[in-house]
Amino acid sequence: MSPPNTGEPIQIISTKHLDKQEYQPYVRRSKPKKDDAKDSESFQKIVWRNVLIFVVLHSLALYGIWLSLSGQVTWKTLLFSLVYLSGASTGVTGGAHRLWSHKTYKAKLPFRIWLMLWQTAALQNDIHEWSRDHRAHHKFTDTDADPHNSNRGFFFCHIGWLMMRKHQDVIAKGKAIDMSDIEADPVVMWQRKYYVPLVVVLTFLLPTYIPVYFWNENLRTSFYVCIARYVLQLNGTWCVNSAAHLWGGRPYDGSINPRENVFVSTIGYGEGWHNYHHTFPWDYKAAELGNYRLNFTTALLNFMRYAGQVYDLKTASAEMIRKRVARTGDGSWSNGPKIEEAGDEAQAKVEGHHHKDMVWGWGDKDMAEEEMEDVRAFNNLMED
Ligand SMILES: [Zn+2]
Ligand SMILES: [Zn+2]
Repeated sequence: MSPPNTGEPIQIISTKHLDKQEYQPYVRRSKPKKDDAKDSESFQKIVWRNVLIFVVLHSLALYGIWLSLSGQVTWKTLLFSLVYLSGASTGVTGGAHRLWSHKTYKAKLPFRIWLMLWQTAALQNDIHEWSRDHRAHHKFTDTDADPHNSNRGFFFCHIGWLMMRKHQDVIAKGKAIDMSDIEADPVVMWQRKYYVPLVVVLTFLLPTYIPVYFWNENLRTSFYVCIARYVLQLNGTWCVNSAAHLWGGRPYDGSINPRENVFVSTIGYGEGWHNYHHTFPWDYKAAELGNYRLNFTTALLNFMRYAGQVYDLKTASAEMIRKRVARTGDGSWSNGPKIEEAGDEAQAKVEGHHHKDMVWGWGDKDMAEEEMEDVRAFNNLMED
């Protein structure tokens, strides 16, 4: 979830062994250290270019918001921005997140192209990189191998992680994440190949130019509103990593940080039911109840199922949920009869390491066969 190229690994490269012909002046390298090996373990260099980009973007966005609130933007431009923001948001939530990262359902080519184009308009890294980061986030939640480890505080997991090189654990353990399914999807790889020109057109040029061309919006105004839309959406997505890991109940698993957060669900198109989502990451609804008002993404996917564009949607049965709530919930579950035993075991686990149970989604080799069988049976899955 970031502007382009923020996720490159730390490159601590000694040039001592290279002769002049091999030396590449454009290779990014750290200052020489007395003990490179030791320092590289904890050293996360700040990427000042990204810091500057975020400061500038937020400043321009604030001006765009001020223009919008002070009546200097036509209602057509505001409505258009909201629609564009919704499209880009669902490209992330329904596409990069629920389809590609978690494999919660399958989609036919036209809908995959649709999601890919909207995900591009959101400019949060290409789908390949987004998914790898996100699978690592689920697999190693709130450890050093999690790109946006929420134990490092609100600022880090909201935006700070995008202003630094990745922690070496993110790089090392991230390599173990299976990406073969993502790399086999030509839609994803095509986007990756043409990402920069696609982003320029879909994130900035098109949404700035459409209001100018069709209803004579002022070009300068349209540009600032475009930046405001982009930055607001970024912050909405980041709230899933920050607010939904810090504030809310944990009815399904009290041993992990992710929480049920109504505010994030409202602005995040249904992505704030985060304790459920981390407990059942292969569930296409990313929530126990498919309440469309606070889960627009689920509504879109259900609609697309009726339109014949998506299939093999996976969701947890009431029985699976009840059992899990009883085993690890914090006692705040309110969607059924009160489960008295909830909480104790979860509380005991809070101190211990629980991440060995974590799976990133459907297809993770660590997912229990028994659980997969239950999901297949409940959802009448034809294929894996
Ligand atoms: Zn997720
Ligand atoms: Zn999370």
